[in-house]
Amino acid sequence: MADDVYWWQAAPLSSPPPKPIDPSCDVAIVGAGYTGLSAAITLARAGRSVQVFDKMRPGEGASTRNGGITSGNLRPSHAQLAKKFGPPAADAIHAESKAAREDLYRFIADEKIDCDFKMVGRFSGAFAPGDYDRLAREAERLHRTLGVEAHAVQRSEQREYLGTDAYFGGSVRMDIGGLHPAKLHAGMLRVALASGVTVHGKTAVTGIERAANSYSVTTSRGPTMARDVITGSNGYTDQSDRWLRRRMVPVRSRIIATAALSSNLMGELMPRRMMCGETRQLHYYYRPSPDGTRILFGGRDGTIAGDPQWPTEALRKALISIFPILDNTPVEHSWFGHVAMNLDMIPRIFARDGRRYAAGYCGSGVVWARWAGQKAALQVLGDATGRSALDFRPPAAIPFFEGKSWFMPAVFAWMRTQDWIASKSRPSALRASRPSDEKAVRK
Ligand SMILES: Cc1cc2nc3c(=O)[nH]c(=O)nc-3n(C[C@H](O)[C@H](O)[C@H](O)COP(=O)(O)OP(=O)(O)OC[C@H]3O[C@@H](n4cnc5c(N)ncnc54)[C@H](O)[C@@H]3O)c2cc1C
Repeated sequence: MADDVYWWQAAPLSSPPPKPIDPSCDVAIVGAGYTGLSAAITLARAGRSVQVFDKMRPGEGASTRNGGITSGNLRPSHAQLAKKFGPPAADAIHAESKAAREDLYRFIADEKIDCDFKMVGRFSGAFAPGDYDRLAREAERLHRTLGVEAHAVQRSEQREYLGTDAYFGGSVRMDIGGLHPAKLHAGMLRVALASGVTVHGKTAVTGIERAANSYSVTTSRGPTMARDVITGSNGYTDQSDRWLRRRMVPVRSRIIATAALSSNLMGELMPRRMMCGETRQLHYYYRPSPDGTRILFGGRDGTIAGDPQWPTEALRKALISIFPILDNTPVEHSWFGHVAMNLDMIPRIFARDGRRYAAGYCGSGVVWARWAGQKAALQVLGDATGRSALDFRPPAAIPFFEGKSWFMPAVFAWMRTQDWIASKSRPSALRASRPSDEKAVRK
């Protein structure tokens, strides 16, 4: 079911007609997801000749598989960022997440991209009773410092937002919405092609070498010389860039889509049609389909190879633990894609040997990838507006890691145990499954 992507029904993947590879160009870009296309559009509009290479069909990576939630999330909290980098840097990163979200909304409107975007807001559920205060404080901080419409939701009011008693209240922020990710990607591809970008689908970059003032780029369909190179391969980085591969951990994230539900039931379960998340370490994210008929429910996949059935069943069980009434509802689609994590879990733009990279969105790239790709392009252009709070040193290499996430099952097991411990403060009907129960699902 790896490629049973619900989004591809309304927006099938397409590859532009094959073109010969230009022997030279101003900029070569690796990856035709949101990062690569965003960079390409910015560069082409500034008059640069741009070739984008993707080893799969453009968008076939995470950019057409994701949940379409315009979260622009940061994994570390504001307090954690402030502790590590100082309060001004933490403020700047948070301010940039607001700017990046707004920039995406402006882009969709200006380019008339029909991607079912709706600014419906996001509900975050408190998984343990103690999480409510943290969510309430964060909503208050968002409102006070960034002027975001955000507020806490007490447990007694929760059903106005979500038809479940699974949370101990939560919070709502209204600057996050939902879109159709594959339609967004198709719109970006259209804009890129109209701006003069050449996009080579099914063309793997196999090596990049510095050559005097430019780069010699070899691909599966022939070589090119480029003055600059931007890499946007994120969770799909392969052996052709072993340096980056040791720094980005690809992690599978999976989404299931239920069969169509009646409008009464959808109204009961998702009365405000909001995007949803929660405070669990191994958290789930979910949303109504853009036509409001199904629930799309996402979370960790837990596998590193093959495509077994058990992650779909584990997600279905998690969905039912939140909405027990869906016990007999069939799952009609299930698919996964790779997100990219780095050691400090901060999306970033960085350079090495004169080449630029934008990566490490930790599962929140709908906003960040487009933004970081654009910033990387502005930096190549030498434009001062390319400076970003996400400009960091390259992420640290991960010890004993060469691209195969062998340690992820152990990391997930540890996180699952943390969630189980946190859930002991919940009434027994609302507890997380014991780690041993989940093993039973795998059999
Ligand atoms: C199931 C799932 C749900 C998600 N949900 C959300 C969500 O709701 N909200 C959110 O904000 N984010 C979400 N994300 C994350 C988001 O989709 C990604 O962060 C974002 O799409 C990254 O875009 P990208 O362009 O950097 O990478 P990708 O879209 O993954 O593109 C990378 C491309 O690089 C290409 N490539 C790699 N190596 C080479 C090479 N050697 N030569 C040529 N091409 C190469 C690949 O073929 C691939 O197409 C989700 C991700 C997944 C998988």
